[in-house]
Amino acid sequence: MLLLAIETSCDETAAAVVRNGREVLANVISSQVKVHAEYGGVVPEIASRKHLEAIPLVIGEALASAAVSLDEIEGIAVTQGPGLAGALLVGVSVAKAIAFARRLPLIGINHIEGHLAAIFLERPVAFPFLALAVSGGHTHLYRVEGFGRYRPLGQTLDDAAGEAFDKVAKLLGLPYPGGIEIDRLAATGNELAVALPRPLLHDGSCNFSFSGLKTAVLTYLQKHPLSEGAVTINDLCASFQRAVCDVLVAKTFQAAEADGIERVVVAGGVACNSVLRRTMTEMARQRGVELLIPSPLLCSDNAAMIAVPADYYLEQGLRGDFSLDALASWPLDKLGRWRDNADS
Ligand code: ATP
Ligand code: MG
Ligand code: FE
Repeated sequence: MLLLAIETSCDETAAAVVRNGREVLANVISSQVKVHAEYGGVVPEIASRKHLEAIPLVIGEALASAAVSLDEIEGIAVTQGPGLAGALLVGVSVAKAIAFARRLPLIGINHIEGHLAAIFLERPVAFPFLALAVSGGHTHLYRVEGFGRYRPLGQTLDDAAGEAFDKVAKLLGLPYPGGIEIDRLAATGNELAVALPRPLLHDGSCNFSFSGLKTAVLTYLQKHPLSEGAVTINDLCASFQRAVCDVLVAKTFQAAEADGIERVVVAGGVACNSVLRRTMTEMARQRGVELLIPSPLLCSDNAAMIAVPADYYLEQGLRGDFSLDALASWPLDKLGRWRDNADS
């Protein structure tokens, strides 16, 4: 099917035109980062207003750059949740309006399911696989049996990894969003400069915890102001980044081994991180595990990834109706797609 996909869950207004859930004809992303940077983080009210302004332009640009008219579109996919309720509502309302006006099938998609499916836009992947969703709001491990079939294996007990990157960046006076800044500064830092904890590394579970690590950085800064010692901001960034990556990599491969899975997908905004990508690749090679990480553009928020599960569900005959509503919280194991309940 030729789908128009819409994504407005956070601070990216995005639209894509995708054929058969695989071939990206257009993937337009309008980021609000500059607007929110002034406030040091995403301001929900502003995000909704900016989505309203941008969405008609972004959809128009996606259709134009795909050289496709609305008459040719065969279905509408939209991020239904999780995310900021007001932001999601903009995408959901526009999607419903187009579907109604054009009498097109409509389907609401889980944003994290989109992140995990992004890799299918670049290459085929066989089920089952182990997935690490690592982003601004999630650090979750799943066993993935198929679209709509996600078994949770572990998750963060407090902050998500991306949230930890952003909070530590803020402590260091770096601009929002901090993950990319830390990645950039860390490239010339010494990751052994500051000894930081590896939370829950040996607890035997597949869970994560990052808030203590953030506090450890704060405590370090209070005791050793960067202006006074030999340790630079680059060193501290490198040490922090290494601590996060060590835990993410160790737990992911531990979960894969415990579950007997030999294929690992890493997805979400933090999967853009250069050290995470490198360390995951090295570990996968050592363990003989197949590792799949989408290219950075498909790791961060976009609408093309939403079209992947959407195409599958629509082909299976699943349809959303006009009662479809934004879901600020929507766990992946509560998708409720299949009657046999294999997804819960
Ligand atoms: P979610 O997907 O959980 O709903 P989100 O959509 O806001 O949350 P994403 O856009 O998927 O999150 O990812 C954004 C996060 O990724 C931010 O926390 C950002 O700092 C982080 N991030 C982006 N690039 C990098 C990088 N190179 N290194 C580390 N973190 C990064
Ligand atoms: Mg974002
Ligand atoms: Fe995201």
